[in-house]
Amino acid sequence: MDDLETLAGAIRSADTAAALTGAGISAPSGVPTFRGDDGVWEHFDEGQFTYGRFRRDPEGFWEDRLDLQEAMFGEEYEPNAAHEALAAMERDGHLEAVLTQNTDGLHRDAAAAVRGDEPGDPNAKADGTVLELHGNARRVRCADCGRRREGDPIFERAADGELPPTCDCGGVYKPDVVLFGERLPGAVIQRAQSLARESDAFLAIGSSLVVEPAASLPRVAARNGATVGIVNLESTPCDDDADVVRREDVTEVLPELRGLLESK
Ligand SMILES: [Zn+2]
Repeated sequence: MDDLETLAGAIRSADTAAALTGAGISAPSGVPTFRGDDGVWEHFDEGQFTYGRFRRDPEGFWEDRLDLQEAMFGEEYEPNAAHEALAAMERDGHLEAVLTQNTDGLHRDAAAAVRGDEPGDPNAKADGTVLELHGNARRVRCADCGRRREGDPIFERAADGELPPTCDCGGVYKPDVVLFGERLPGAVIQRAQSLARESDAFLAIGSSLVVEPAASLPRVAARNGATVGIVNLESTPCDDDADVVRREDVTEVLPELRGLLESK
């Protein structure tokens, strides 16, 4: 049997299935990567973007953050065929959730697009279908009251000189991402880990699977009996634990997988 059919069969018969994604799914949309050749961290000093600096020097932090934001999201990006295939698989009940290491918000855009919704309220409770393990760089969150807002108007205020930008409550806004030295969002991570344990089929898409806590999720899933599929251009440390490994373009493999799920 073709290996993608094996995977489709496992997803079809699974009580619970989930997908984890990394930078490799957004690269075809043109989103710059943080690491690797010409990655964002080749041009910016990671040490300036720590949680400690945000607390100590929010003005300087925001000044530098605006440059980083421009480098990352100065252009608008659209979800690609791989985001769309996963969103459709989730909508159609094949996937319980999409877990992502990315902060570009493209999975949420794709989910809204396949459902015909407007992009969601940034304060809506995570509906459990897109779990952003490292947050969302297109939003900000008040460091005091926790209120979330769309980032663009706040980034504009900061660019116009409001440094640091502040919430109505007086608290300082923080990009709604996990900064270096900041704790990961506990509830989201726990949900991701329990999904990995419960899944009968687990996909890892476009992730090099080296950054924790996401890196160990496929192995957790495999250990708990899941059929694991990995799609990534390069090899990963989890390849030996996977049932199906495709070193191919995610924008080709995911629509193909979705097509197989549709065909039966
Ligand atoms: Zn506030």
